[in-house]
Amino acid sequence: MKAYRLLQWQQPPQLLDIPVPEPGPGQVRLKVAGNGICQSDLHLIHEWIASPPHIKVELPMTIGHEVGGWVDKEGPGVSGFETGQAAVVTIAGCGHCRYCAQGWNQYCMHKDAQVGMGLDGGLAEYVVAPANAVVPVGDMDPAEAAPLTDAGLSSYHAVKRVLPLLTGGSTVAVIGVGGLGHMAIQELKATCAARIIAFDLSETTLELARELGADECRKSDDANFEPMSADVVLDFVGAAPTIAGAAKMIRPLGHIVVVGRGSGSVDFNHRFMPYGATLSTTFGGSKIELMELIGLVEAGYIKPHITRYPLNSVEKALDRLAKGEITGRAVIVP
Ligand SMILES: [Zn+2]
Ligand SMILES: [Zn+2]
Repeated sequence: MKAYRLLQWQQPPQLLDIPVPEPGPGQVRLKVAGNGICQSDLHLIHEWIASPPHIKVELPMTIGHEVGGWVDKEGPGVSGFETGQAAVVTIAGCGHCRYCAQGWNQYCMHKDAQVGMGLDGGLAEYVVAPANAVVPVGDMDPAEAAPLTDAGLSSYHAVKRVLPLLTGGSTVAVIGVGGLGHMAIQELKATCAARIIAFDLSETTLELARELGADECRKSDDANFEPMSADVVLDFVGAAPTIAGAAKMIRPLGHIVVVGRGSGSVDFNHRFMPYGATLSTTFGGSKIELMELIGLVEAGYIKPHITRYPLNSVEKALDRLAKGEITGRAVIVP
């Protein structure tokens, strides 16, 4: 089968022919329908010189951590799936620790390598995943469902975290309307009554934000970050100017969620933050949140905006992603 493999850090990955993988004990093999590409893929390809010990990425590895497909084969000891069933792949926790017991599988500190981050990923014709990471998506097109596992879920988890603050009369600022931000606007519309202000650098992207229901759309610029104008800020960029903008916009008792992995920082102290304001990072979302999100899609509240690219155009798609030319999510179809 064809697979897009990273062979060495900071070297361009290559589209290679490798054997179709066999699912081992506790694993399921999916025939890939689509794999969404993400800023983390660019980060993995270009910025890593080695894997930090807690992530356990060893090369060579097939890239791709936003996978949708059809169940193709259960490994030894696995049951409960049907061949041909549409499903997506999420993050598997250890299943035994306090985080996992509370349903926070993505924060599990003992989790093993994940699909596309240590295990071979979804930029291939077939992928093998831990059975407890495979979540059925009913009648959805699994290529369209693929972005729910990261773009959809990471934004949904951030929204869920601040939902008690998003009452009638409140305002939420969404900074960065890319893969995650375009989902966040729909998730906010589906779950709360807050006024939504969307910020982005691209006019085309702000047009999409408007279509998806943002009440106001502004160019991401310091002059447009109005002081103390938001009860919640969701920063999907995380770069120095956006984090500074978030700190400027947040109101007393407000909450800033930094989802994007840009390397900005903020002076978190009494002098620079309004009283009572809080700040958090997030990582992914839980399995039950993914199931809720699938429910919102099935009920017609949310729809990922995707552009499909064939597997032999993956480099072109990654290049467009790096240049900020993708609206919504690019999904690679083998
Ligand atoms: Zn990602
Ligand atoms: Zn765990």
